[in-house]
Amino acid sequence: MAKRRRLNPRPSRSSIPESNHDSTTTPPEISEDDTCPVCQLLLYRPVKTGCNHTLCQSCMATWAEVSLSHEMQIVDIDTDIEDQQSHQPFDAAEELEARCPMCRTQTTASLDQVRSQELQTKYPEAYTQRLAEGTPSDPDTTQTLQTLTLHIGNTHQLTTPTQPVDVSDPTPPNRHAWTFFLRPSNPHLLEEVHIHLQPTFRPARVIRTRPPFEVSRLGWGTFTVTAQILLKAGYSWVHAEAQDSPDGAEGGMLGVEWRLDFAGRGSMGRLRVRVR
Ligand SMILES: [Zn+2]
Ligand SMILES: [Zn+2]
Repeated sequence: MAKRRRLNPRPSRSSIPESNHDSTTTPPEISEDDTCPVCQLLLYRPVKTGCNHTLCQSCMATWAEVSLSHEMQIVDIDTDIEDQQSHQPFDAAEELEARCPMCRTQTTASLDQVRSQELQTKYPEAYTQRLAEGTPSDPDTTQTLQTLTLHIGNTHQLTTPTQPVDVSDPTPPNRHAWTFFLRPSNPHLLEEVHIHLQPTFRPARVIRTRPPFEVSRLGWGTFTVTAQILLKAGYSWVHAEAQDSPDGAEGGMLGVEWRLDFAGRGSMGRLRVRVR
């Protein structure tokens, strides 16, 4: 050692500013700004939320899975579903929707490529290490988990009476033409939809094996339609109320309910459910 030091004299660390050479042997401390608030490690594949928080993609994906709201949200029946879906990436890893784990705002998060690149340059060793750790679990947490958006609702129209209205009748029967519909963002995941109507309808159960997943009837009053949504083999619902399919597939069936709406032109709700 003494001999080497004499041949390659180097000033001590304290006498010069830290050089690039030193940083490869002594990795820089990871600044708090570059640390994920969830896992407390160097941000890896950072995603930025609409509320301006940054965390690892895998941390957000895990959080999104546990916090996804199962409440149905009523939306305008004229909402252009096709348009919405074309802007909604199919892969949950690309855009995640959840409550922000930092401030609880309902938000979306997308990968911040620029930040990712900066962190990789700033902490080459730590980033490579995170890459090595992160890769094996990624397919489980993000790639095989999909978000399926279900639009459920009914259209409604009062029909013209085919016979002259009896004006002496104080309560002339209204005839309501309605269509119950279920519109999944990815119909290819669905095997069948079983639609259950009131027992007075014959048949009271309708099975649809391909889109449109709809039932149209004429009726006099509203009631609650139940639809059981069966996924194709190999997929299961990530939902507390998921049941096994009649053929035994674990978590392959999800029941949803819709109260028919005969006010105006009907209405529609949106439900986001995860599928793996
Ligand atoms: Zn993290
Ligand atoms: Zn936030």
